[in-house]
Amino acid sequence: MIVDYHIHLQPDRHVGRCKYNLENLDDYIRQATLAGVQEIGITEHCNRFRQFMPVFEPVMGKEESVPAVDQWIRETCTEDLDDYVQFLHKAKELGYPIKVSIEVDFIPTEAHRIGEILADYDFDYVLGSVHFVGAWAVDYSREIGWPHKSVDDVFEQYCNTVLEAVESGLFDCIGHPDLVKKFGHVPSRDMRPCYERLAVAMRKSSVAYEVSTAGLFKPVGEIYPSREFVQTMHDFGVPFVLSSDAHSAEEVGREFQRSLALVREAGYREIAVFEGRKLTATPL
Ligand SMILES: [Zn+2]
Ligand SMILES: [Zn+2]
Repeated sequence: MIVDYHIHLQPDRHVGRCKYNLENLDDYIRQATLAGVQEIGITEHCNRFRQFMPVFEPVMGKEESVPAVDQWIRETCTEDLDDYVQFLHKAKELGYPIKVSIEVDFIPTEAHRIGEILADYDFDYVLGSVHFVGAWAVDYSREIGWPHKSVDDVFEQYCNTVLEAVESGLFDCIGHPDLVKKFGHVPSRDMRPCYERLAVAMRKSSVAYEVSTAGLFKPVGEIYPSREFVQTMHDFGVPFVLSSDAHSAEEVGREFQRSLALVREAGYREIAVFEGRKLTATPL
């Protein structure tokens, strides 16, 4: 079974009404079929929805905040989560091979609030992603924030925030677990102990992670997460899903043969699929 469990229905820069309509979804399904993907998970970014606006307060307007990110959150926070979830459920009932999901920023101080929002909706899985270390969006630009920081410390903080996300119990799957490498920074410290702590926590709470080809198209030019990360997760029995982090239909399932080679070399023979927030392992 091949799934693509990280899909956005329009580019990040899209402002105004989101493309939650069947014509747009048809384009994504067509591309999925061409790419050999049997099921796609729609994971719209939570900042698109008014309900999540208060969750972003701790990262907005702070000394470390990236003004362009603040502006993006303010400009895009226009949709109603009810409409989005209803649209996806309706499409699923019509037979579209989709899962109902959302990509949620993990902002540690707001865990309780995030839990309250999520509790009102029927998702097949919730994808938890760390984009912020403190109020700083680590993935925005190599020039903003990075030059003033220790790369080792940022990698460690990023990994610890992902660990907190896993332990929060809010998420079924972790998105791009080593996004922090996006611009090609390399820590001098051995990250394996951190990955092992993560693997133990994920195994314990039955949380999966995604193997995402998005990193291949970023300055780092590498799948998220690294081979070492994937091997550690495999050795601790942590399940994975495949994803592209597509922001347009033509990106669905792209370069999946590279991810498949990586997970097979690590020893995986099964992939995780989700339904009603339950994980099932299915042969690859
Ligand atoms: Zn993301
Ligand atoms: Zn995404």
